[in-house]
Amino acid sequence: METKNTILQIENLKVEFRVGKKCVHAVNDVNLTVHRGKTLGIVGESGCGKSVTAHSILKLLPQNGRIVDGKILFAETAEGPVKELQNMKRTGQEIRAIRGQKIAMIFQDPMMSLNPVYTIGSQIMENLKLHEKLEEREAKARIIHLLGQLGIPEPEQRYKEYPHQFSGGMKQRVMIAIAMICNPSLLIADEPTTALDVTIQKQILRLMQKLRDDFGTSVILITHNMGIVAEACDEVAVMYMGRVVESGPVRQIFENPQHPYTRALLRSVPVPGMRSDVELKSIEGSTPDASIQFDHCEFEPRCEYASEQCRGGFPQARECEPGHVVRCFLRGGGES
Ligand code: SF4
Repeated sequence: METKNTILQIENLKVEFRVGKKCVHAVNDVNLTVHRGKTLGIVGESGCGKSVTAHSILKLLPQNGRIVDGKILFAETAEGPVKELQNMKRTGQEIRAIRGQKIAMIFQDPMMSLNPVYTIGSQIMENLKLHEKLEEREAKARIIHLLGQLGIPEPEQRYKEYPHQFSGGMKQRVMIAIAMICNPSLLIADEPTTALDVTIQKQILRLMQKLRDDFGTSVILITHNMGIVAEACDEVAVMYMGRVVESGPVRQIFENPQHPYTRALLRSVPVPGMRSDVELKSIEGSTPDASIQFDHCEFEPRCEYASEQCRGGFPQARECEPGHVVRCFLRGGGES
């Protein structure tokens, strides 16, 4: 792995879940690259494997899930060294030194993640003390400073308050503070704005972009919404049934989408710059049961361009323009 520009590289990752007697292939042959100081969006419908991919990085898979193949390579600094996360034990010393300190995660619902009986300050302090030895006064000053940087007014006062005294958007800022207090080099945000209204959503996305720019933090942003990708990401990987079907720089994917699923996602939500007369269309059909093991392109049952070739096997990933990779037999996106 090249460490100067790359902080995280996932190579041919496969993750399986045991569900009763069934084996579910949640992530299949996934390749992803996160560049330093950039935001990679992972987008797709629920159950496509985007959260499982993110949880695999920090060894946060549930007990019935396991990485069966592939590599997760992480280089905190441009000088290296490269660490292989896939082999670390989920409760081991090595991953605990990385989780929360070098790679931090924020989740969708701050209500579920904040403890109602502890003050905001003590919950951020807990994460800080776990990873760094600091005097109480110094730690408190750092937390208050960060709360202010995150746009929380009167941070000294808010430090002493409880989660129920915060609005949804302010709670999500607190979650970002918990994640950012140890200056992680990589932040994974799993649907961080889904529970928030549109105005607050925009504020949180802007805040995450600011963090990326001010602290040089690299970000993985997981979302089902292409509008959020357009607003907040530099690069994007589109996932469908455990596979990355298209990836590349956001601008290229939006201007020249190649995979029929990417096109369908783009037609289903308003994206910035879209003409007001464009009709939004929901994606036809539903995602097949994840336990079904396909012997050909998984999108075939929903694809308007499906041909005999598509029912005969899996398309290989190919580069259709520099940095823009697609996994589809169709050439030129299928549009005349
Ligand atoms: Fe559709 Fe065929 Fe491309 Fe699959 S490989 S997305 S079925 S055109």
